[in-house]
Amino acid sequence: MNHLPTTLRPSLLVAVLLLSAPLQAAEPDWKVGLASVKITPERPVFLSGYGSRTKPFEKVEADLFVRALALEDGTGQRAVLITSDLLGFPAAIAEPICERIQKQTGLKREQLLLTSSHTHTGPIVSLDARVRDNLTEGDAQRTVDYTRQLQDRVVEAAEKALAKLEPARLSWGTGVVHFVMNRRQFTPGGVALGANPRGLADRSVPVLRVDGPDGKPRAVVFGAAVHNTTLRPQHNFVCGDYAGFAQSYLQEQHPGVQPMFVLGCAGDADPYPHGSLELAREHGAALGKEVCRVLETKLQPVRGPLKTVLGYADLPLQEAPPRAELEKQAAAKRGVQAWVAQQMLARLERGEKLPTTYRCPQAVWQFGSDLTLVALSGEVVVDYVPLLENALGPQRLWLAAYANDVFGYVPSARVLREGGYETRGIYAGSIGLFQPKAEEVLVDTVRRLATQAGRAAPAK
Ligand SMILES: [Zn+2]
Repeated sequence: MNHLPTTLRPSLLVAVLLLSAPLQAAEPDWKVGLASVKITPERPVFLSGYGSRTKPFEKVEADLFVRALALEDGTGQRAVLITSDLLGFPAAIAEPICERIQKQTGLKREQLLLTSSHTHTGPIVSLDARVRDNLTEGDAQRTVDYTRQLQDRVVEAAEKALAKLEPARLSWGTGVVHFVMNRRQFTPGGVALGANPRGLADRSVPVLRVDGPDGKPRAVVFGAAVHNTTLRPQHNFVCGDYAGFAQSYLQEQHPGVQPMFVLGCAGDADPYPHGSLELAREHGAALGKEVCRVLETKLQPVRGPLKTVLGYADLPLQEAPPRAELEKQAAAKRGVQAWVAQQMLARLERGEKLPTTYRCPQAVWQFGSDLTLVALSGEVVVDYVPLLENALGPQRLWLAAYANDVFGYVPSARVLREGGYETRGIYAGSIGLFQPKAEEVLVDTVRRLATQAGRAAPAK
């Protein structure tokens, strides 16, 4: 409005602003490109998430997708958000994908965000063809073949989305779902996987609406902070769990709209109740319905410019157990602990030192002064929601996790102190457990990145 004469009286200025409001609304300040590519495995492969499965999947209950949203702000700054119906992209799978996208599109690494729904009825992704757990040589090879194909498809989705940028407007709001349950149940024998109704859980449903110039939605990015584990080990079929059903629900309600699910700090949250396909559908419908409700409410505009930053938190690891203890754990052959111990021993046998930190990527996308998307890596427990709200301020804040590198759990100092499943730390890379101090390092890193991205510091 700097072309207005400075002599305008305030009342006239208000009138001019009011009159020009619809005009401004008619001018979309973003360009958005969308793409959706099916990633349902075509050959039977082992599914991920439950180590007790003894054979490849039996059937396809619902298709899996990777979806891309390419964004360009008014200054030409671009970024691509990729969501997927997968357990997670470990860095070893994600980084080659990003390198290829960077090479072909000229984008930088910080302009790419790879996320996953953490469905436990999606294929294992791995480029390791070694025989392990219940996988035969053929199974392991099929998994590698699938993973290579998946990498191609993610690159394809990003390129497709970037190739058709069209004017768009963004807005956002928040809803709530009630099937999110803290799963750290206190028992006489310690913290067990169960249900803890008094435990902290993030039940918020962030919703980012992407409209075309006609005001009709073209895409909806939404989230929840709960494991996609309504389906259990006995459900040996391909399915996106509640997140997959929520995305399908949105497509039914808004034909032609691209749904994209982004998982929050779900490390210690399970759907409640869980255990059947019917419940997965119910939770999906509940989430989808809530997103539809939020879409009809008055949403807050999300304007540019867009600033994307990516940094790394070197989270300190606990000292490795003595060699005898590692050998004892490794001898168990099966299970995460054994796998971790075997990898640690293998490193020691190669004459390598065990690392003292794990380098976790952390992304922050700042949308003008309207919204901050924090995308953490790993399976982050819910304690980081209040910790980051406190560090960054609670408003205009979207907290996501399982992004860029899904390497294992990220427990808080409290969770490490109390014990339980989520203390196990790194399952990929297999180099040990985090120290309580990791909490502070992570929060400090995100605070620094948010400042770098241009988020205003919280009022004291
Ligand atoms: Zn998990």
